[in-house]
Amino acid sequence: MARISESQLVLPALYLMSKSDGGVITTSELIRSLTSVMHPTGIDAEILDGRRDTYFSQKVRNLKSHDTLVRKNYATNYGEGFKITALGAAYVETHKNAIDYLLHDEFNYEDVKTAIMDITTRGNNRVIPIEEIVSEGRIVTRNVQSRERSSRLRMIAIEHFTHNNMICCDCCGFNFPDYYGPNYGLDCIEIHHIKPIFQYQGDTFDQLVSNALQNLLPVCPNCHRVIHKNHIGSNNISDFINEMRQRFV
Ligand SMILES: [Zn+2]
Ligand SMILES: [Zn+2]
Repeated sequence: MARISESQLVLPALYLMSKSDGGVITTSELIRSLTSVMHPTGIDAEILDGRRDTYFSQKVRNLKSHDTLVRKNYATNYGEGFKITALGAAYVETHKNAIDYLLHDEFNYEDVKTAIMDITTRGNNRVIPIEEIVSEGRIVTRNVQSRERSSRLRMIAIEHFTHNNMICCDCCGFNFPDYYGPNYGLDCIEIHHIKPIFQYQGDTFDQLVSNALQNLLPVCPNCHRVIHKNHIGSNNISDFINEMRQRFV
């Protein structure tokens, strides 16, 4: 696992800056907030010899000591931290939906890092997160085009996971219509995203679908909550599923 690079920190740092009062954030707030949304693991979470810093927090500090954000005109130095510039705010806006989705869905640290590189290096291609295919209890994207695509994708996902007219929780086997009856139990299944799913301009819809289906999981709201509460990510989801299947046989 590679350590996080400074360029992978630029967008999330600016995002948090844009969300704070007056676009101002101190370096120590930045360390705290970035740690809590990205939840670094592995080598990045290790403490540096003889210091209180981890590799991760050291990297965040480097944004200041290397002038990374200031040189790009994304922020100005402001006391012990930064103040976002109009250019920085515009940069965040370009990727707003994508970064909102990435930092609020408890994805694996490695998956978040990869996705950040992906969305920031694909040139002008606009990135569309397709979170509406799931019912996570919120809708982030306000893009009409992607919403239409997403509801189509949700239908495809539901169809894909439906067998013998039944769609059950992949973890505990819960089946809504069985329990609540056919009048109330339909369409209550939730779909969890194992890895972040994006559509890039240039991807065909078929490419999006095949990528999406591998990373989606039909789950009941209880299992869904347990998955998120315990930060079960792409590297341990199959262990969780196997364990639950044994419990609920
Ligand atoms: Zn379940
Ligand atoms: Zn989920």
